Amino acid sequence: MGVMRPLVLNPLFAALTSLPGVGPKLEKLYARLLDREAPRVIDLLFHLPSGAVDRRARPKLNEVQGGQLVTVAVTVDEHQPAPRNRPRAPYRIVTSDDTGQTLTLTYFNAREDYLRKLLPEGETRYVSGTVELYNNMLQMVHPDRVVDEKGFANLPLVEPVYPLTEGLAAGNVRRAMEGALARLPDLPEWQDEAWVARERFPAFAAALRNLHRPAEPHDIAPETPAWTRLAYDELLAGQLALALVRAHMRRQAGRGSASEGRLRAHVMKALPYALTHSQQQAVDDIIADLARPQRMLRLLQGDVGSGKTVVALIAAATVIEAGRQAAFMAPTEILARQHLKTIAPLAEAAGIRVAILTGRERGGERESLLDRLTLGDVDLLIGTHALFQEDVAFHDLALAIVDEQHRFGVHQRLALAQKGEAVDVLVLTATPIPRTLVLTYFGDMDISELREKPPGRQPIDTRAIQLSRIAEVEEAVGRAMREGQRAYWVCPLVEDSEKIDLAAAEARFEELRAKFGKAVDLVHGRMKGAEKDAAMARFAAGETQLLVATTVIEVGVDVPEATIMVIEHAERFGLAQIHQLRGRVGRGSGHSTCLLLYKAPLGETAKARLAVLRETEDGFRIAEEDLRLRGEGDVLGTRQSGLPGFQLARLEVHGKYLGAARDDAALILSRDATLQGARGEALRHLLYLFGKDEAIKLIRAG
Ligand code: ADP
Ligand code: MG
Repeated sequence: MGVMRPLVLNPLFAALTSLPGVGPKLEKLYARLLDREAPRVIDLLFHLPSGAVDRRARPKLNEVQGGQLVTVAVTVDEHQPAPRNRPRAPYRIVTSDDTGQTLTLTYFNAREDYLRKLLPEGETRYVSGTVELYNNMLQMVHPDRVVDEKGFANLPLVEPVYPLTEGLAAGNVRRAMEGALARLPDLPEWQDEAWVARERFPAFAAALRNLHRPAEPHDIAPETPAWTRLAYDELLAGQLALALVRAHMRRQAGRGSASEGRLRAHVMKALPYALTHSQQQAVDDIIADLARPQRMLRLLQGDVGSGKTVVALIAAATVIEAGRQAAFMAPTEILARQHLKTIAPLAEAAGIRVAILTGRERGGERESLLDRLTLGDVDLLIGTHALFQEDVAFHDLALAIVDEQHRFGVHQRLALAQKGEAVDVLVLTATPIPRTLVLTYFGDMDISELREKPPGRQPIDTRAIQLSRIAEVEEAVGRAMREGQRAYWVCPLVEDSEKIDLAAAEARFEELRAKFGKAVDLVHGRMKGAEKDAAMARFAAGETQLLVATTVIEVGVDVPEATIMVIEHAERFGLAQIHQLRGRVGRGSGHSTCLLLYKAPLGETAKARLAVLRETEDGFRIAEEDLRLRGEGDVLGTRQSGLPGFQLARLEVHGKYLGAARDDAALILSRDATLQGARGEALRHLLYLFGKDEAIKLIRAG
């Protein structure tokens, strides 16, 4: 079976410039509109309308009301050009119908010859637009449409309205869309026939036609069978692609890393605490996965501070006992070093040889480390991206642990897994992702959740305070510092500009330093690794007490003595992000506080978001609420782009189909793993249409 795109799809993958009215100049605008460098016909077809104009009201003139959008048939009575001495006056055309009522069509800056041709005196024309009452007379300023009898037969009375970009006219998009629809071939049905019938889904091509040529304004709602079908197509394509990737990864089966658990036992004995119930459960899941001859692909989800690191270490101990190696990749240098610090004593107690590799290890030190790694003299390698540099070769890598997954792309995760044979993958994420989104981002990964916190954690007192009261907050922080407490102060996140972020943090640092002296320190993303670590180390050791930071401290950094978290402009942060930041405090035995400084006034959604943070510390609930609130924000008109990573599917409307799409994908591949059957062939079309054809290449031949 080839990996060539089916020929029937060619017209849809042609450049947009192949459509009538789209030249190289407009192509640039379409590139911006469709967010794709060289947009293709299919990209335009997936640009769905955001609304519709309803021109179906067709009253007689004596029934027309002011402000009404109508399409009326009128006789052109008289042209009244602007008088010569007042060329800026409007050009008027008086029309009427058989009720005797007149309607004046008004044009500004009009060309007479054009208007005389468009609306010849004595003839009947159909005009469509909004009628106004002007001095008690009906008038229509610049009608949207003027057509004759023949044109009227083709006039869509319900017109789609598209999101546009500056410089691109609605008419051009509509015309190009008509051209695109004309290219739309009939394609084989790839959805299950019974499912299509039950959901009353139109065929793929028909669904696109329904949405771009609505008969009724509500034909373009995301809830319609047409839109839902396309959304489901997209979800299925995504789930199929993920399942194919997964099947590909699992295929190189063979080596289970079974062990008696001797090393694990050593690690557990060295722990100053007992595992929580859910940590134990996760450990059991992982050990079972590792013993199996299939590849492990497991997501360990756990709120900040839920204790993922030790679970990861126990997983590593399991493969190491089988004589193999593990890699532990963190998104930042600070985190990698912190992991090393946490893990080193435990590893030593168990006789596990640990090393670290980041951008900072260079020269001879790095070389000797790589040698030991290749010889198998390092059991566990902790590090950053540096781990998947080309010259990093393991003796026998069995397990790749990837911390804080959302910072890494899927391809990076795969790159690390390529460093060994059938490497088992454990992904740790501290951003609790709602189940629906787990499916989207991770496909059918197995999931372990750490839902309970280690014992002894104190609730964090969270308060929202207006930014105008910042002086009081500073005073309170000062008092706490004098009592020996430690605090973080996180500075505003300014969109898209690291520079401005930094300036804000530096300014705040200067100010606080002037107030509280040398106990104040600064850490930010532009600092060199060593400087950052030094600043963190001073704070951890208590040499400094107030750490001003940009969001570099967001993930993972563990200073149990810190009890205060101040977040400036909390309204600019995502809920999950604030939750992460807040998780930096409340780790020790002291009572902890989180102060969310916000700029008033807050909108309803922003208020609700801060309220959620005050109410709960359950990251899973916060993530769900965040999604729900963002959904409502969409309804209120601040719509974001729907389901992340999707063009057509909208989470609020179509998210509920994700589970079905996942089951469907699994069923399809269980029956026809190589997509060879008739439906398999059809599904290949689907994968191409949604840009998932990379996955087709992973299908094993034969
Ligand atoms: P995260 O899930 O955020 O990575 P960590 O693994 O950094 O959490 O753990 C946070 C803190 O909790 C660490 O100081 C760790 O030693 C401690 N910890 C982990 N598991 C337990 C437990 N079962 N009981 C008590 N403390 C624990
Ligand atoms: Mg962690």
